[in-house]
Amino acid sequence: MERLVRSCYKQGGYQFAKKATDIAREYGIERVARLASNENPSPPSPAVIAAAEAALHQVNRYPDERVGLLTSALETRYGKYPFVTGVGMDGVIETLLRTLVEPGETVAISTPTFSFYRLAALAQGAGVVTVPRRDDFSVDPDALVRAARTAKCTVLCSPNNPTGNATPIEDVIQVLEGIEGILFLDNAYVEFSETDYLPLTKKYENLVIGRTFSKVYALAGLRIGYAFVPAWLQPFYLRAGTPFTVNSVSCAAAAAALADTGRVAGFVSQVKRWRKRYTDEVKYPVLPSDANFVMVDVAPRTGDEMVELLARRGVIVRSCRSFSGLPDHYIRVSVGDDWENELFVQEINSL
Ligand SMILES: *Cc1c(COP(=O)(O)O)cnc(C)c1O
Repeated sequence: MERLVRSCYKQGGYQFAKKATDIAREYGIERVARLASNENPSPPSPAVIAAAEAALHQVNRYPDERVGLLTSALETRYGKYPFVTGVGMDGVIETLLRTLVEPGETVAISTPTFSFYRLAALAQGAGVVTVPRRDDFSVDPDALVRAARTAKCTVLCSPNNPTGNATPIEDVIQVLEGIEGILFLDNAYVEFSETDYLPLTKKYENLVIGRTFSKVYALAGLRIGYAFVPAWLQPFYLRAGTPFTVNSVSCAAAAAALADTGRVAGFVSQVKRWRKRYTDEVKYPVLPSDANFVMVDVAPRTGDEMVELLARRGVIVRSCRSFSGLPDHYIRVSVGDDWENELFVQEINSL
């Protein structure tokens, strides 16, 4: 019966970080350092949990289809913008591509990067064009514009997952001005970086900036993301989206989390402190990062070997092998709690 399944789903799929956790369990390790998924290591604050609980009492009703509570919290935080929301930023990406892309049209992706863009574009029947970064993983704006000029949508992740570097604003402007379609700028890690692209939304009608509550805001399990979109695009995005897609509990929690500025600032300073410590203390080369993770060059080992060796020692990190366009000797390591980060440094240096 498998012949009935669409060809784009017959191979591949999203790579989850589970396997290393299984290895750690096999080796009988109880306290595992989870540094593979770039999550916030601390649970949400009591205020966020209280807001989610209050919303839970009314889940017999459908959520507000306008997502009013979260939209006003976003407006309080950022000012009046056209916002859209989704089930994680992944959900936003999916709905955005559904809004824009006819089968056979092109989606251009700056690589190596987060793999879901490609999967979501293929699911839409798009032709995917990948545009490699330079050897130092910076974006070559000339090459990107040349390859993406007529694409319906161009995807650029900044700070980039997994390489960690942010793209300078001038280069993003060059891309915005050189392409005919939409630029989707994935800002999942922007809170850890000094580069703010938001002012560009005032000038460019073809810019969408995606954000998430899964990383600094500590709500990965509630699956909620949003985007700044141009005003002309918002009604079409809403039309393309699944009805009531963002649930009321997630919305209430996200709105409360936005107000939790002290906790956000605390995690950001933890990240900045540890990016420096990783760079200074790990014996392998650590690439500069503007995110809550770093990429480490573990040559002559492969990323897969290193993941296995660290998992046996109770440290779960991500091999970068699944990021296509990247050599196989990198791992990606999140900043977690102090004990997790310390264990990682100790164990990798012992290898
Ligand atoms: C984690 C991540 C996302 C997805 O976030 P969700 O909101 O959890 O779907 C999107 N883009 C990048 C680059 C990420 O690393």
